[in-house]
Amino acid sequence: MTVVGRFAPSPTGPLHAGSLVAALASWLDVRALGGERGRWLVRIEDVDRPRCPPGMDQVVLGQLAACGLHADDVPLWQSGRDAAYVSSLQQLVDAEAAYPCACTRADIDRALAARGVVHQRFGERVYPGTCRPEHGGLSGRSARAWRLRVPPGVVPWHDRRLGPQHQDVAAEVGDFVLRRADGLWAYQLAVVVDDAQQGITHVVRGEDLADNTARQVVLQHALGLLTPVYLHTPLVLAADGHKLSKQNGAAPLDLADPVRALQAAGHVLGLPALNADTPAAWLAQAVPAWAGIIQALSTRSDAP
Ligand code: GLU
Repeated sequence: MTVVGRFAPSPTGPLHAGSLVAALASWLDVRALGGERGRWLVRIEDVDRPRCPPGMDQVVLGQLAACGLHADDVPLWQSGRDAAYVSSLQQLVDAEAAYPCACTRADIDRALAARGVVHQRFGERVYPGTCRPEHGGLSGRSARAWRLRVPPGVVPWHDRRLGPQHQDVAAEVGDFVLRRADGLWAYQLAVVVDDAQQGITHVVRGEDLADNTARQVVLQHALGLLTPVYLHTPLVLAADGHKLSKQNGAAPLDLADPVRALQAAGHVLGLPALNADTPAAWLAQAVPAWAGIIQALSTRSDAP
C-alpha cells in the first residue's frame, strides 16, 4: 500500500508553532511509513473564504518550504472544489441521507428548550431533528442549510496515539451541517470528500481536531468512502494554558532559523534534539526517530 498523508492548513493566518507540529508529524509519518514511495500532500482549506486573507495561502506554502516540507504534488485548494462538494451532497440527498433545514439558531434553542435540554456539549446545540422529513420537513419554510441524517449508535474509531475512541454522534452532536445557511461548505463535508479525492491513507493532525473524527467516519460511511488511519498530535499550549491558535494571537513561525523551529516542533512530538545545519539534514535525522516513536505506539496493548 502506498502511504499518502497530508497537511491541510486553513490559510486564515500564517503558520504558528502549533501548526508546524502537525505539518512536521504528517510529513515524518509518510517518510517513516512509506519511504520513497510515500506521498505527502498539501491541501489549502480555504473553504471559509471570507476568513482567508488574499495571498495567505502563498505565505503558508512559503513557510512550509522554508522548513524543508515540500509536497509531492501540487496543492489542492478547497475554493476550487465546489463541483465535487455539490455532487457529494447530491449523492447523500439521493440516498435520503441528507435533508434541507430551515432552522435558525433561535429555532433550535426553542426546540431544545421545549424538550427541557439545558446542558449542551461545548455549548454546541445538538440538533433536535426538527426538519427531518419524518418530523414534517421544511413545513413550507425555506431551506437554509443541509444536514446529514446521522444514524443512531456509538461510532468507534482508533487513534494511533490516543488509543481507542468512540462517540455517539447522533446523541452528542445530532444531524450536523454539510452546507451552511450562508452557502459555504462545512469543514466536515469538505475534509471527507477531499481526503478521499487525494487518496489519503494516513491523517495526522492536531489533537484539537480529534473531536471531529467520529463525524467524519459517519460521513465516510454515508458516502461509501474508506476511513483513513488517524493520529492526533499533542497541542502547543499558549502561556494562558489554552491551545496556541491564531485566535489567541499565536506569533507566526519565526523562520529566521528554520532548524530551530523544527527542533521546537520535534520536541512536542517527543523527538530528541538533533544536530543539523539545514532543514533537510534535520528532517533526514528525524525520520528514523519518528519511526521509533510510532513503532512504540503500535506495540502498545491497545493497538488495533
Ligand atoms: N484545516 C484544518 C485546520 O487548519 C485542519 C483540518 C484537518 O487536518 O483535518 O485546523
